[in-house]
Amino acid sequence: MTAPNAIIMDPALQPTTDPGWVLVEEGYDPLRESSLESRFAISNGFLGVRGARATTRGSRWIVPARTYVAGLFDTGAAAGGIPALVQAAGWLNVRLVVAGQALAPSPGDLTAHLMTLDMRRGAVFTEWPASDPRELALGQVVARMRGARLVSQEARGIGLQLIQIEMDEGGIEVTLEAGCEGLGAGLSQMVLAPDLGVWRTCQSDIALAMAGAAWLGVDGVEIPSKAVSTLTWCWSWTTRPGQIVTFARVVSLARGRGPEADAAASACEALHMARARGWRGVLADHEAAWAERWRLSEVTIDGDPTAQTALRFALYHLNGAANPDDEQVSIGARALTGDDYLGHVFWDTEIYLVAFYALTWPRAARALLMYRFHTLDAARAKAIRLGWRGAFYAWESADTGAEAAPAQVVAPDRQVVTILCGTQEQHISADVAYAVWHYWRATGDDGFLQAAGAEIILETARFWVSRATLEADGFRHIRGVIGPDEYHENIDDNAFTNVMARWNIRRALDVAALMGQRWPDHWAPLSARLGLGVAELEAWRQAVDTILPGLDAQTGLYEQFAGYFDLEDIDLTAYAGRSVPMDVVLGRTRTQGSQVIKQADVVALLALLPEAFSGDSGAANFHYYAPRCGQGSSLSAVMHGLVAARLGDGETALGYFRKTAAIDLADTQAADAGGVHIAALGGLWMMTVFGFAGLTLHERGIGLNPQLPPGWERLAFPVQWRGRRLSITINAVKGRVDVTLEVGEAMTVCIADSTIPLSAERGVSVAL
Ligand code: BGC
Ligand code: BGC
Repeated sequence: MTAPNAIIMDPALQPTTDPGWVLVEEGYDPLRESSLESRFAISNGFLGVRGARATTRGSRWIVPARTYVAGLFDTGAAAGGIPALVQAAGWLNVRLVVAGQALAPSPGDLTAHLMTLDMRRGAVFTEWPASDPRELALGQVVARMRGARLVSQEARGIGLQLIQIEMDEGGIEVTLEAGCEGLGAGLSQMVLAPDLGVWRTCQSDIALAMAGAAWLGVDGVEIPSKAVSTLTWCWSWTTRPGQIVTFARVVSLARGRGPEADAAASACEALHMARARGWRGVLADHEAAWAERWRLSEVTIDGDPTAQTALRFALYHLNGAANPDDEQVSIGARALTGDDYLGHVFWDTEIYLVAFYALTWPRAARALLMYRFHTLDAARAKAIRLGWRGAFYAWESADTGAEAAPAQVVAPDRQVVTILCGTQEQHISADVAYAVWHYWRATGDDGFLQAAGAEIILETARFWVSRATLEADGFRHIRGVIGPDEYHENIDDNAFTNVMARWNIRRALDVAALMGQRWPDHWAPLSARLGLGVAELEAWRQAVDTILPGLDAQTGLYEQFAGYFDLEDIDLTAYAGRSVPMDVVLGRTRTQGSQVIKQADVVALLALLPEAFSGDSGAANFHYYAPRCGQGSSLSAVMHGLVAARLGDGETALGYFRKTAAIDLADTQAADAGGVHIAALGGLWMMTVFGFAGLTLHERGIGLNPQLPPGWERLAFPVQWRGRRLSITINAVKGRVDVTLEVGEAMTVCIADSTIPLSAERGVSVAL
């Protein structure tokens, strides 16, 4: 008999040994299992698989790892008639039959379960023992299983599973069956062949194809499989002590709007290529693609290992959430890692994510914004339906861009509440325009601006001009909205909304002027198609200054909305120990009548448009609003942290950074089960790069105003700016900033009021 650990482990099944790159979970805690599934999800922007592990259902051994396919939305009774992501089949199930009996993990086995998220390699590794089902040796471990799973960062339709089985005893008949979980559930079946299944969603009519292949090698010799049923294979062999059995399965998924034969052909073609590469080739390509993502986005922090882990975890999920090759989808509020918000896309993407992609993965940012371009018609239809013009984007967007916000939800206090966000949370249109403009400024992607971006900015501006109505006082008001702070509904002149709307209109005027001067050949057909003439642009110019920003000239404070300053002022420090959101503590009615806010609102404005705050008014607004914020959204601390960092209060900023990091890493919220909070993860990067490093983008280059928080000795990260690649290092111990230009033409770097030339030959190195 050979001890299981003496068996040489295939390096493919060996996670990265550097503890800084892995999250390890030992044992089993039923209370934390579902948040672990979110955290340990693997994703590539097309496929997402939750980090569930093997368990039993009857004598079946299943891996209930929900698999999501980006854009695979359907409307159905389950989600109350609004689009929700439909799950594809779980493709990780195995069943091991030893001497005629199914080997099932008992709860005891699960406590010995080891699970490792390898962030460097973008894969999850598992290790678990299986007990002997025969009465004579109850509870005795007979097989040790090591597994790996990934969804390819290189060929995004491909999923790979590997299992190595080590058995101590010889002479036993073993059967392994590999199948799927919930094959075709919730979908209409079209084709079922041994290695291929094709389905369609019931209402939205989207095709899904899944092709697969599996191998089993005993001591390196492949043994033939018996096909059992669709995407289910089976092998039998006789054990020998010290034997190594390796199982590999590749699945290939494709989604399509056209005939199902097309989706089937795509899935089969990708599978064919994967087979030709072999599973080691698939693994190698995936790892190379991840290495490239890390090279282009890795942030290193010396002196604060907790912050380092938080950022690495954030970057792992951010790099896994986007797909630069798919303009039909965007990133949902939980990416592809959980069911919360049904896969819907919010302002989270444009305000908390696009900046990261624009500066580290421009192609991914462009695809996200192209999704908004492709859904522009739906935004136009929504504006018209509600009596306005231009483009009013869906607060919650799915596959078509039609409004997908539910009419009602069960609130945290278990009350059924009506959701007004779909009609009232209108800042979304300005948020999309904001991301379009900043993407263009960061990348210099003129082709995008000409073909798509300009139209988005113009149509959203047109919405605002129609939306802000001129009243007897001579000003235009935007009444009946919800700002980022969702505790107050149906409010008038929300400062965030109004100032963002003004900004949106002004950028539209800039875009119109720019297009007319620089690209008249693009401008003529675009303005003709939009029916946008000189008179309307002039009307915008007149309108924009009459939209009230809600700024109190004396105090420099923005009033969050008309009448906010008169609401009940509640001291939140008295509720410091609470474990539920403030609207649950106070009840909805009292909350609405109070100054308690759910999340950064004026502070979010300060983070996004600092130029709208003159002199010391930024600090004044921050100090007024921060104590009134209940931090009821995972997005909130990001804006507070970013602003605090820019204001030079590193300690406070670091507090917000840690609070944000804890959302997905510390099991502090029960909602973790619904998936990772991708906007908060994007926010960790924003706080670091825009806050602590103080990165700004200018016409001729970048600016840096580093103020590292306590404990951070050194911060280093790459960014891309207008076709260039830069590497930035801030060393607080040495008091130096170094910038090198790795790729691209000369530019400038602004540090502490001096503008320094930067070229590939000559880096920038200055004392702070
Ligand atoms: C926040 C919104 C956010 C949504 C999705 C809500 O709780 O208030 O700002 O867009 O979650 O993350
Ligand atoms: C969010 C809203 C959202 C609503 C319905 C709430 O929790 O704060 O932004 O529209 O859920 O999904």
